Amino acid sequence: MNCLEEDANQILKIPLPRRPLEDQLVWTYDNRGQYKVKSGYYVAFHMKVKDMPSTSSNQTGWWKYFWKLSLPTKIKFFYWRAFFNILPTNLNLHNRKLLVAPICPCCGFDYDDTYHALVGCKQVKKVWKLTRFYSSLKSTMPMEFSNLSIHIASLLIKDEFEEWVVFCWSIWLARNYLTHGNDVRELQDVVTRAENVVASLRTGITQGQANLAKSTQPWYKVNVDAAVSSKADHAGIGVLVRNSAGDVMAASISQVPFLGDVEFVEALVVQKGLRLTSDIRLTPTMIESDSLNVVNLIGNKIASRCEMGWVISEIQEALTSSHSTVKLLFAPRTCNEAAHHLAKLALCHPIEQVRIEEAPSEIFTYVSKDKIM
Ligand SMILES: [Zn+2]
Repeated sequence: MNCLEEDANQILKIPLPRRPLEDQLVWTYDNRGQYKVKSGYYVAFHMKVKDMPSTSSNQTGWWKYFWKLSLPTKIKFFYWRAFFNILPTNLNLHNRKLLVAPICPCCGFDYDDTYHALVGCKQVKKVWKLTRFYSSLKSTMPMEFSNLSIHIASLLIKDEFEEWVVFCWSIWLARNYLTHGNDVRELQDVVTRAENVVASLRTGITQGQANLAKSTQPWYKVNVDAAVSSKADHAGIGVLVRNSAGDVMAASISQVPFLGDVEFVEALVVQKGLRLTSDIRLTPTMIESDSLNVVNLIGNKIASRCEMGWVISEIQEALTSSHSTVKLLFAPRTCNEAAHHLAKLALCHPIEQVRIEEAPSEIFTYVSKDKIM
């Protein structure tokens, strides 16, 4: 058999067992190498989706329509993230190496993607059955959530589509409630909450919020800080990511060894902030640090010492790369309280912790106190 040289090289790289074994067929899309119809379907579906023409040409009109919906900012942010497949579904967390398996926490299905989490899950379907949207949904096959959104929007008038978005949001909240160790909420509760939000929108109770939401596109802000332990042998570093509505997108605490240089640690936490946002696929508008020296070092306003030169240049590269629009800004300590308390909390937690869409309860008061802008 003739082999391309590249293929031959790849084959030669396969490690061989020490003892001879029978050849066997292995399905690489399953952890155990076994073929299942479910995973075959999933792979075939995603291959098909890749081949579909991009919807970007009609997306400009779609987004104009979307941002004009009279909905609270946080619900629009949620839906925007669902559309771009950046919600922390278990499949996304798994792909970012933050979770071992991409299994649905509600029904155990193998691939918890956005469509599954908001529409396809067995548990979620029970909620949709109680709504008027079920007839439009029951015939849909698994698809990219963005395509489903455009499809559903084409079937519904504006008021109905707003209601649909609120239902998706209510389902997502219920699911997070469940995945944080709480009991399954009554399905009717999910429906009632969504109906209440819609009713309050229609009566204008949140009209102020809705008006505010009309003009805004989401942006993200990262606050970072470091704290040195009393023995000065290690430092705690804290990163807090929030959106422009003030909702927490992610919080992380970890420790690094302390070698006597506070600025070095303050620079490391800026780098950590950039990595965390990249892991959760958000593009922040700004990173705030309360270390004026580090902000000046990275902005080339003062020369860096050679011991920390590498970390400064890595951050500069990340900030000036072609797809980056993030700015590093100085924030006085009073505007960086939440990150400061995260860093202090990190001092007593040797294992790194990353939380998605929530902050540790210890810093709740500081999160709400911090100025967002
Ligand atoms: Zn499920």
